[in-house]
Amino acid sequence: MSKKFYITTAIDYVNAKPHIGHAFEKVIADALARYHKQKGEKVFFLTGVDENAQKNVQAAEIAGVGVKDFINKNTGYFVELVEKLNINHNKFIRTSAKEHALVVHEILNKIIKKGDIYKSKYEGYYCSGCEGYKTEKDLVEGKCLEHNKKPELMSEEAYFFKLGKYREKLIRFVKTYVIPESKRNEILGRLKDDLNDLCISRSNAKWGIDFPKDKKYKVYVWVDALINYISGAKDKWPADIHVIGKGINWFHSVIWPAILISAGCKLPKILLVHGYLNLKGRKISKSVGNVIDPLELIKKYGTDAVRYSLLRCSVFDDSDYSEEILIERYNNELANKLGNLVSRTSGLIEKNGIQKCDNTLIKKLNEKKIEKLFESFELDKALNEIFAFIDVCNEYIQNKKPWETKDKKVLYELKESILKISELLWPFIPESSEKIKNIFSATKIKKAEPLFVKTK
Ligand SMILES: [Zn+2]
Repeated sequence: MSKKFYITTAIDYVNAKPHIGHAFEKVIADALARYHKQKGEKVFFLTGVDENAQKNVQAAEIAGVGVKDFINKNTGYFVELVEKLNINHNKFIRTSAKEHALVVHEILNKIIKKGDIYKSKYEGYYCSGCEGYKTEKDLVEGKCLEHNKKPELMSEEAYFFKLGKYREKLIRFVKTYVIPESKRNEILGRLKDDLNDLCISRSNAKWGIDFPKDKKYKVYVWVDALINYISGAKDKWPADIHVIGKGINWFHSVIWPAILISAGCKLPKILLVHGYLNLKGRKISKSVGNVIDPLELIKKYGTDAVRYSLLRCSVFDDSDYSEEILIERYNNELANKLGNLVSRTSGLIEKNGIQKCDNTLIKKLNEKKIEKLFESFELDKALNEIFAFIDVCNEYIQNKKPWETKDKKVLYELKESILKISELLWPFIPESSEKIKNIFSATKIKKAEPLFVKTK
């Protein structure tokens, strides 16, 4: 039986159309999912949207549209993004689905039975952007860093989850769970202090999932949202990897495992916390308002150009990203390096043919190193390594001059090496990789049409 591999992205708010940061997270998860698929594992890949968040409701009110219509329309854009990005997911979850609410109740009922939920009065600063209460420590000059605005003071009678009692267990768990180390240490640093219990109900919300046995309240949307990883996967749980952005590290590193421990569920294995994309030094986000529409980029440059330019960014560190950067990577790397190698080699083979021999060229490829970089999630470095080998292949043509020598053995080496390259590139640019494979697997190899047409 093949090994199971269950990977998730975060579920996105649908208060607006998707931005490039959403695309970034999805292609990271997709590259990992495809890599594990290539290894012969039984992959389950879950992505989707958070439709129960209060900020969806606020956005609908501002737009003057009914909440349901508003959500359906924006969810449509996320579905379209996933399709156009060629994301190989197995399920797209919408948290407004009835099946999801049933699982949320199932898990909350287990926590209630365990005695981990109690009723009390709550007063605190609430950031509607985060959909969460903030402590003084979370704020800089009284503002939420993530949303650059002042949270509102709220007071209510509410249900609490005994989060504090799990502090010791969480410290132990986080040590093996959170990647990279800097993000793990951030959480461990915060867990040194007392851990407050968590308010998990909302009395002022009209939208969302009813609290079990008390319809005056809705379930706190973060608790509801996190449970999508179980409701969307059923028997595939636990997740091997949750891929998330650094802004929601605390929810996934602390609140989520505590809920699971309390409910007696298995724990996920790895939390992969990726960095943000910056546009001229500022985080790209809906709240900041400097959004790049990934659907527009795909329409202009194609799926693989967008995937490639995103996956060339560091997974962990914040990276600069812009249309100019996409174009530069597309022209210099995909068109000049990979595209040229494919078109020159296929043309030379059409004219001269190939002859099987010992492949000395492919020995210059360090596949083990690429595998290691995948295992440590350094996808950008894995791409560097693959492109270094593409450089080696281009130099090999230059040096061996098969257009003069008509050396069929050199062309055989190049063909085999390009087939290997196409396999290695499949997690990153699947469509182009499949095209290259088809070109060089044909019984009569013909000069290929340009794969990447240079752009301005
Ligand atoms: Zn906030």
